[in-house]
Amino acid sequence: MSKPIQNSSAELANRLITQVIQACKNKTLKLEQPNNIETVCVSHIKRFMERWTADPEFQNQVAVEPYKTIARYGLKVDPEEIRPLWDLKFLKEVGERVPISASLRQWHEFFDESRVCELMQSIASSSSEPRFKAWRERQIARTRSQFKKWLQDTLVHAPVCFELSKGCSVGCWFCGVSAPRLGDIFIYNQENAKLWYEVLELMKEILGPAAGAGFCYWASDPLDNPDYERFCSDFHEVLGIFPQTTTAQPLKDPARIRALLKLSRKKGCLLNRFSILSLKMLNQVHEEFSAEELTLVSLALQNKEANKIKANAGRARERNLNKGEEDNEFPEQGTIACVSGFLFNMVDRSVKLISPCNASDRWPLGYIVYDEGTFSDAHDLKILLERMITDNMPLTVRPNDLINFRRDLKYESLTDGFQLSTKFKTFKFRHEPYLKELGEVIHKGGKTAEDIASIFEKHGVSPAYTFHNLNLMFERGVLDDEPKPKVVKS
Ligand code: SF4
Repeated sequence: MSKPIQNSSAELANRLITQVIQACKNKTLKLEQPNNIETVCVSHIKRFMERWTADPEFQNQVAVEPYKTIARYGLKVDPEEIRPLWDLKFLKEVGERVPISASLRQWHEFFDESRVCELMQSIASSSSEPRFKAWRERQIARTRSQFKKWLQDTLVHAPVCFELSKGCSVGCWFCGVSAPRLGDIFIYNQENAKLWYEVLELMKEILGPAAGAGFCYWASDPLDNPDYERFCSDFHEVLGIFPQTTTAQPLKDPARIRALLKLSRKKGCLLNRFSILSLKMLNQVHEEFSAEELTLVSLALQNKEANKIKANAGRARERNLNKGEEDNEFPEQGTIACVSGFLFNMVDRSVKLISPCNASDRWPLGYIVYDEGTFSDAHDLKILLERMITDNMPLTVRPNDLINFRRDLKYESLTDGFQLSTKFKTFKFRHEPYLKELGEVIHKGGKTAEDIASIFEKHGVSPAYTFHNLNLMFERGVLDDEPKPKVVKS
């Protein structure tokens, strides 16, 4: 007898969680011996790449005198062994026959961020709530046709995340989610700790192990909350995973950061991140923390010299608009949102159902808000979440649903059907003249699923067959499910 879907996906998620923790333990064992030759090798190549990416002056110096420069920066790497990383002329000469040294291979295997991302994606997709699981898969199908492949591949579509403060103290000019100034903080007092634990248990009850792919910041910096570590420890206790941390304040309290990194490694967290806002900050971080200490900490290099394009969302988008740059329908990156699920703010006990999109006038923060509400306690929250799931996550098209194609898709009629496309993807529905007519009716808009089924029934097509085809489109994420703008009454 086959197992119920819920159980098998939960088992898979549990296996993945064990795998993540084991992988971390293996790495941690090496990290706890800072003189371990592999640790030294991978951490110093990683540091070389950080400096190389962030600092054009370093690039110039390496090109002229590689050995001296590397010694000056205290890097324990042999420039010859890592030549493919820095010598473009050499790369051109060797073409596809790039020699990969043992140390480069070790570095790549040890610090494989994409592997961590894939594991988290697998855990996130294992929800035991079938309606949530199908809804999230439709969101992923939608974003696959809206985002560049590199962005789509790195999006976890995490099912849940928690803000533990109102706003953020850092105030980055480019903040993609326009975090407001830091306000109240969700302190770990008796009442809040109880609520927190109950909320985590509820998320586990609703989403299963998939909830472990969540994290505890959004338009907030984790270190603004003095009790962040305690919340993370509860998260780990209930959901089995120690949540990943990204902070732009690694220098605020180095002793605290060291303790947090140690705790997170001990609990099996594979990767954390520091946001680096300036070259000066990179210098200070490299001064404060050894390469070995940061082996499992990815540096997000946001300093201007790194020349990284900022996502066109939130404050960066506002700045672009002020400079007269209009939204590009297909930007390099139009969002920093990575949640398709529930976004909590624990201070005001609010929750939103969100999913990433390219920022626009309608969704300036780079995510669609499908629903939102507030709660007073876990019982209240359960009712709210169940209502959101029922309203927003049907498993199939409902008779009264208004059926339209997504507004960003280009509709084209074909001789035996129709196609819908964006710059990145084309969806074809064809090989049947009936589909051509169905496409036309949907394209004209304004009809419910029931209306459409009855139009075709008059021409001998069973309603069941029309619903079957509508459901195919629904699953592929081409039907419009965006909430309609609220009409403001005058
Ligand atoms: S980018 Fe992060 S650290 Fe910077 S203001 Fe936004 S939330 Fe705060």
